[in-house]
Amino acid sequence: MDLLNYVNGEFVKHSNEKWMDVLEPATGKKFARVPLSSAEDVDLAVSAARMAQNEWGMLSHKIRAEWLDKIADALEEKYEDIAILESRDTGKPISLARSVDAYRSVTNFRFFAELIRNQEEEEFLMDDATNIVIQKPVGVGALITPWNLPLYLLSWKVAPAIGMGNTVVCKPSELTPMTANLLMETIDEVGLPSGVVNLIHGNGIGAGAPLTSHSDVNLISFTGGTDTGAKVAAVAAPQFKKISLELGGKNSSIIFDDCDLGKTVAGVTRAAFLNQGQVCLCGSRILVQSGIYDDFLEKFIESVKGMKIGDPSDEETELGALISPEHLSKVESYIQLAEEEGGKIITGGRPSLPKQFENGNWLSPTVIIGLKHDSRCSTEEIFGPVVTIHSFETENEVIEIANGTRYGLAGSVWTRDLDKGNRVARDIHTGMIWVNTWLHRDLRVPFGGVKDSGVGREGGRWSLGFFSEAMNICLKHD
Ligand code: NAP
Repeated sequence: MDLLNYVNGEFVKHSNEKWMDVLEPATGKKFARVPLSSAEDVDLAVSAARMAQNEWGMLSHKIRAEWLDKIADALEEKYEDIAILESRDTGKPISLARSVDAYRSVTNFRFFAELIRNQEEEEFLMDDATNIVIQKPVGVGALITPWNLPLYLLSWKVAPAIGMGNTVVCKPSELTPMTANLLMETIDEVGLPSGVVNLIHGNGIGAGAPLTSHSDVNLISFTGGTDTGAKVAAVAAPQFKKISLELGGKNSSIIFDDCDLGKTVAGVTRAAFLNQGQVCLCGSRILVQSGIYDDFLEKFIESVKGMKIGDPSDEETELGALISPEHLSKVESYIQLAEEEGGKIITGGRPSLPKQFENGNWLSPTVIIGLKHDSRCSTEEIFGPVVTIHSFETENEVIEIANGTRYGLAGSVWTRDLDKGNRVARDIHTGMIWVNTWLHRDLRVPFGGVKDSGVGREGGRWSLGFFSEAMNICLKHD
């Protein structure tokens, strides 16, 4: 299957003959080709988005919310297709692709439809005047997404962006283009006006960079690695583009002596290894209070060894393959580094799987102990099924350790004392903290990071704020 770009309401071939093979991470088998588009293709898509923006931006919130609902309805009919494609494209277990990726992709459109429909203009009264705050579209948006949660993250951007009256050009990761293509088919099927949503396939250099630097793009919503985010920011700043950066993370799971050990082990295992540890929010540094360190370690290892790794299409599978051979090498290089840094590898290695998976990108969940909490492996983002475990004595000490990375995205605290959980959470420098849970998402709350984990917030009304320009109209009374 050769994928096509989607520009101005039509599926079109890109302007050159460069393609990239799309491979199944689980088997290494090729199953599609994705265009490697260039600046010329980006130009066409941005022009289409620009042409469509005026008319689209003038529609009421109510009408645009109806369009989001139509997309949600049509996507919901493809629920199983989304799960199957996402599992094949990313190597993640089908059960996860169903419960997280397919579920959230549909929910994102429904959630933002409802939020936008119910949005009201704010008024601020003075003795002699009324201020009315209206939210106008920003213009043309560039939406750039990574490979770990492909449609989940793309729909998280497309829905609020077009809901607030912008038109967009999407650039998904070329490693996982299949569900972005499915979204374009869905948008085409429901008859969304041409040019409102456009999609350019390709890599970062060929398509991503010309898109973010395009003079007719007014807004960039980028999710990806911190180094790429820095490049995008450097291009956007001199052109004063509105920008949101959702970047990398190195998140701590903080476990106190007084936690419910059974629930904590289950929760921390999930936080560590969901999607093979390839979620920006994953808790890859596990900090355990010394009183329960040995007990926790024993139960955690037992829990990790019990995880079922293998065929992503098997309903029972809990861990699938990593995204690419290059990424697997990067993750394994960190495990080697851990040994050089004095760490002890308790679990890990290549799993033994049936022959059909011999060319896939497989790694067993890896647990490392004995490293200093400020070592490279304990502070740099590995983005794979690898965790380091450290012990601590006091609240103050663990806060200092948790804050000792360049990242500040998320984290979790595990304790029976909710006052302590709340107190510790407030001292951690991140955008989000869960207490006695992880990835428990309410779509109304702000999402984003501090430090090198990003700039700005999306989610709920924060997304509506980012994807619009607030304008104040002051009416002086007689
Ligand atoms: P990445 O390499 O930074 O790529 C992200 C996207 O940017 C891809 O579509 C990529 O295209 C594109 N890109 C690359 N260079 C570009 C450039 N110069 N200009 C514009 N676009 C460019 O990240 P990834 O490896 O796909 O994803 C993993 C990272 O994403 C991890 O660090 C993870 O923590 C982060 N992440 C963060 C969040 C969050 O919400 N904070 C959520 C998910 C993932 P190519 O595919 O060609 O590189």
